[in-house]
Formats: sequence, C-alpha cells, structure tokens
Amino acid sequence: MATAATKSTTEQSNLSALKGHIPLIGLTGGIGSGKTTVSDLLAKLGAGIVDTDLIAHQITAPNGVAISLIEKQFGSEFIAADGALNREKMRTLIFNSPEARKSLETITHPLIRQETARQALQLNKDGAPYLVFVVPLLIESGSWKDLIDRLVVVDCTKETQIKRVMQRSNLTQEEVERILAAQASREERLKHADLVIENQGSLKKLEAEVENLHQKILQILKE
Ligand code: ADP
Repeated sequence: MATAATKSTTEQSNLSALKGHIPLIGLTGGIGSGKTTVSDLLAKLGAGIVDTDLIAHQITAPNGVAISLIEKQFGSEFIAADGALNREKMRTLIFNSPEARKSLETITHPLIRQETARQALQLNKDGAPYLVFVVPLLIESGSWKDLIDRLVVVDCTKETQIKRVMQRSNLTQEEVERILAAQASREERLKHADLVIENQGSLKKLEAEVENLHQKILQILKE
C-alpha cells in the first residue's frame, strides 16, 4: 500500500482512482447501531469521513441538487413548502411502488456517487491518512464491495437498536421494526465484516474500541 497521496488531477473523476493509494474503509451497520457515533469518533482521530447518508439528505434538502429533477419526475406535490423533498410522501410512494423507488434512485444515486467522489478526492488531497465511507445499506447495495479495502461493521443487538432509534428519532417500536425488517440481518452483515466494532456497552467502551480500530487501519498503511 503506497503511502504517498495520489496526485489529484481533473481526470480523477471517480473513487477507483484512489484505490491502492490510501486505505478505503467501508463502515456499515443497521439503523441505530452507532455508525454516526463511530464515524464522529474516527473523525476526531483524524480519519477522512464521507457520510453517504448525509450526502443523500443534502441533495434532497432545500436547494439540493436533486430537487428540481425530483420535481420534474414526480410533480411539485413531492416538494415541501421549504423546498426540500417531502420525505414522508416520497417514503409512502416508494414503499408501495418498486418502479417509483427505481425512478428516484436513478436520480439520486449518480448525484450521491458524484458528491461522494468529490469529497473523497478532497479529503485525500487534504492529507487524510485513510478514508471511511459511511454506507448504511452497504451489504444490501453490493456496489461497494469491490472498491473498499476493509469493511467495518458496527454491531449491537436488535433490542438495543430499537431502543436507541425510538429515543433518537421519536419513532414507535413498530416503526423501527419495519425499518429493521427491510435491512440485512445482523448475521448477514457480520458474515461480510473484516472488522467488527461492538457497540453494546457504554460510550466509554466504544471510544476504546474505536481507538483500537484506528490503530488497526493505520497498520494497513504499512502492509
Ligand atoms: P446510526 O448512525 O447507526 O443510525 P447513531 O450513531 O446515530 O446510529 O446512534 C443511535 C443513537 O444511539 C444515537 O442517539 C447515539 O447517540 C446513541 N448511541 C450510540 N452508541 C451508544 C452507546 N454506546 N451508548 C449509548 N448511546 C449510544
């Protein structure tokens, strides 16, 4: 693994240009497992973080780059008064229509990929020692596996996930269970993991786990 940062050129339009130059780490886990908490801790240790969930939200926020395309495709009733995507309405639509989901993803996925690559190239240019891509549905999507060098899975029990998400997002148990049912199972995710962050205990314990993970990733640089 080369330690020198890649020279960023205008031809470097996608992520695969970084492969082999800087460790590319995928970070996934079920809803409420602690992905955001772990990535915040890794950022404090100096990791370059690209949060694809955050990017997905940004492109559909007021003035987000996906908004006009969504309006054109689905109609203005899918845009809220503040100019953001009407998430509730869209969620209902795509829950009942795989075609609508596909149509939405045809708009959002290329924009998410483009912004993900832009941020990754910038973080590399800024000298990040390694990059962490936070991808909630990494196992389900399949398209990330070839790009990343290591997959980190944040793991806790289903009961803990439900408790945390009910508190964080003010959802009912049934609502959280419905989201969980649409995601890969804990077992499935763990099968693909190179490294596991156990997040069943206290935040203090998590901090120690993350420090340990950071050291392990830095070791990849020396391989
Ligand atoms: P994800 O990004 O995977 O959905 P978050 O990092 O947002 O999960 O964590 C879900 C909720 O649980 C957040 O409110 C977070 O502060 C809390 N949380 C995460 N890990 C712990 C922990 N070890 N102890 C207590 N609360 C935690």
